[in-house]
Amino acid sequence: MICGTGAYTTGFWPGLEKTFSTLGVAVMATQPIGDNPRRVIAPSNTTVVDSRADAMIYKYNKEGRLVTSAFIEGRRGGDIAFTKAMMRDKLTWVLPQLTEVDWQYYWVGALDMQPRTIPRLFDLAPGVIASLGYSGRGVPTGTMMGTVLAEWAMGTRPEDLAVPLEPLRAAPLYMSFAPRLFLAWSRIRDQRLARAGGANPPPF
Ligand SMILES: Cc1cc2nc3c(=O)[nH]c(=O)nc-3n(C[C@H](O)[C@H](O)[C@H](O)COP(=O)(O)OP(=O)(O)OC[C@H]3O[C@@H](n4cnc5c(N)ncnc54)[C@H](O)[C@@H]3O)c2cc1C
Repeated sequence: MICGTGAYTTGFWPGLEKTFSTLGVAVMATQPIGDNPRRVIAPSNTTVVDSRADAMIYKYNKEGRLVTSAFIEGRRGGDIAFTKAMMRDKLTWVLPQLTEVDWQYYWVGALDMQPRTIPRLFDLAPGVIASLGYSGRGVPTGTMMGTVLAEWAMGTRPEDLAVPLEPLRAAPLYMSFAPRLFLAWSRIRDQRLARAGGANPPPF
């Protein structure tokens, strides 16, 4: 049996829900973006990562809406009006060519975070494993892990799997606060670096 219950793991297997910490994420999508802005904003239709410490990732969906996200922290995420305004300012700071941002979709969820942001395989009992800790990257990583899980199910020896089987172990205590502290520090660092470079600091 393979347990793949992600951030929504409850107490069905003692201790499993303690192997990760959760971080909320809010995702939002703009109105469909017109042809003119699309000529200069992500014109190759790729996913773009603005790699400041408080990273911003955006991409078009099939309707031509720009989709981006923010980690939930304090008012960020929980207060929807505040978050929409903050993310509108942030998006237009990164993309000054964008003159209008109307967040027409907004949804939230939880991520199961691991210190190294690499998913882990826990050996729960003979014939029972858990694959958790995709740390917000489950779409590509989960696809890769599917192969590893299939190999385990087909009888591949644990030592031959690409990801090691580990005993159940609780996440370190610092995981309960470190991701949020990192986010706060990231924003301060981004503001400081922008000012040092003579640029307007990010409006968030
Ligand atoms: C809002 C949001 C946006 C995201 N965007 C991206 C992105 O752009 N790219 C990316 O790579 N990743 C993204 N992620 C992360 C990605 O969705 C996760 O990493 C991935 O879904 C984890 O896969 P999983 O199979 O481990 O868990 P999940 O997809 O969470 O699936 C776990 C399933 O187990 C079920 N379950 C829980 N408990 C039980 C039980 N006791 N019995 C039976 N079933 C149970 C749950 O209902 C759920 O269906 C995003 C996550 C969120 C929340």
